[in-house]
Amino acid sequence: MKKRSAARSSAVTGVLALLLAGALAASPAATATGSKPVPPRVPTSTGYGGAVSSLDPVVSEVGLQVLRKGGNATDAAVAMAAAIGVTDPYSAGIGGGGFFVHYDAATGQVETIDGRETAPGAIEHDAFVDPATGEPYPFYPDLVTGGVSVGVPGTPATWERALERWGTTSLRQALRPATKVADQGFVVDQLFHDQTVANQERFEALTSTSELFLPDGEAPEVGSVFRNPDLAATYRLLARGGVDAFYEGVLAEEIADAVQTPPVAPGTELPVPAGSMTAEDLASYEVVDRDPTVVSYRGYDVYGMAPPSSGGTTVGEALNILEQFDLASLDDSAAMHHYIEASALAYADRAAYLGDGDFVDVPVSGLLDDTFAQERACLLDPAAAAAKPVAAGDARSYDGVCDEPAAPASEPEDTESTSTTNLTVADRWGNVVEYTLTIEQIGGSGIVVPGRGFLLNNELTDFSIEYDADDPNRIEPGKRPRSSMSPTIVLADGRPVLALGSPGGSRIITTVMQMLINRIDLGMTIEEAIAAPRATPQNSARTTAEQGFIDRYGTALSGYGHQLVPDVTIGAATAIEIGPDGLLTAVAEPTRLGGGSARVVRPAVP
Ligand code: GLU
Repeated sequence: MKKRSAARSSAVTGVLALLLAGALAASPAATATGSKPVPPRVPTSTGYGGAVSSLDPVVSEVGLQVLRKGGNATDAAVAMAAAIGVTDPYSAGIGGGGFFVHYDAATGQVETIDGRETAPGAIEHDAFVDPATGEPYPFYPDLVTGGVSVGVPGTPATWERALERWGTTSLRQALRPATKVADQGFVVDQLFHDQTVANQERFEALTSTSELFLPDGEAPEVGSVFRNPDLAATYRLLARGGVDAFYEGVLAEEIADAVQTPPVAPGTELPVPAGSMTAEDLASYEVVDRDPTVVSYRGYDVYGMAPPSSGGTTVGEALNILEQFDLASLDDSAAMHHYIEASALAYADRAAYLGDGDFVDVPVSGLLDDTFAQERACLLDPAAAAAKPVAAGDARSYDGVCDEPAAPASEPEDTESTSTTNLTVADRWGNVVEYTLTIEQIGGSGIVVPGRGFLLNNELTDFSIEYDADDPNRIEPGKRPRSSMSPTIVLADGRPVLALGSPGGSRIITTVMQMLINRIDLGMTIEEAIAAPRATPQNSARTTAEQGFIDRYGTALSGYGHQLVPDVTIGAATAIEIGPDGLLTAVAEPTRLGGGSARVVRPAVP
């Protein structure tokens, strides 16, 4: 392999949820603002010759052009991810990490790249604990902003590795369209404006960040053109020097400096704790080629992301549990009851077992074993909700025989977030990419590396905040924090039929699960499966759900004993379905986050 490779219902995320629900409904549809054309937001496109889907129209346009010029799915995915760093810099960029899942038409293999951030070598077990009180720092405002939560970024190394394994272009070529967008600017939409406003206090606390994202002290106006020449110059640096120019040399020194000595604005009262990352931490970063997780579900093979993501095992285990029941024969409310219960069981096991498998023993094969699922399914009462939280099973010793339920666990977290982003690409040769990438919180750590045009992540907050030697997700130097990102590719008879993924913190897993159930069991089209209202059952006494879900299923589900509590929006997906005749159906969110953009190279003639 080539080198390189807290509970947080924060004020920031709460405000954003409201903003996202309301203001974005009127998000940009214009074809031109001033002289600058804005590509269309298209929720569904069908056709041939390749397809892209993302949550941003400029990003999808970039991917489409790469495919049109003969690039393959990986070429397009890397170009799109680089464009995300320009137009959606609060969700992802070269200061963050992610997971890249690839189906190779030539070999029939699904393979993945783990580009998750790592903890610095000098991080202490109690990095998130206040020495004065012995209590953990609160996520907001203490941990979210500053250097202490910044992990060593994995995204540049992911792009290099993906291109090296599957691409046909160089990193230099892949970065070109995004560099142009950064130079020439893009039209600010409501989402970018609102996310800037929601982060105003944090951004004001850091001089480099306010200089970039608060020109004249204010969030850029909707409809104005936002340029990022610093990021364009950084992309040119990577184009010339490869990712070594990021992980070694001047830029690596600057990143370490920004983490150790964040450029705090004079007079700021916001805590901006420093971190310990060094240039050596950056120089020793490596992406990891990992085998995907896979489960068979109703004749399909569902591939996902292995640890350190909890996505593949949790989605896979829940599907295995659900496969013990004939969901298609049930009415939709009964199916949703089963979904909530299966998800609770899988989340209990996620909490008990999931962490970075390079540091802790994660029983992946047990969690994904049908016999284990049979045993877990014993606890799913088709007629009534179990008392939550349910306890974890024993994924290391099981026989498929029903046991007495164990004592309940403690109430888990439901991380409320709409950060992160996702993209899906299929090319004319049949290759498919599903890629979820993030800088964690919207706006990451809030630290822009001075003069470099990109934000650093705050991914280390995905570790358990308090150290417990038995906790698989405890903080350790060099370790990757547990993720929920769930890029998923589904095969039938060895051929890809569906790829999908979503942002949303711990809600990513349920979003992916629910879309799969909607499509495979409930007979929805892929457009309907994505648009359908969502719930995010995570083994809590109360299940958070969108209002549309409560309106549709609330009465029936309360009959099973479920309590639903409303939240504005859950997840934001992109997907591509591949029909038996090769017809591509690219789908993006029709309304959540203002709507995404799904495009095809050659539209089908209606
Ligand atoms: N840090 C999250 C994860 O890796 C993603 C951020 C989010 O979507 O909120 O699971």
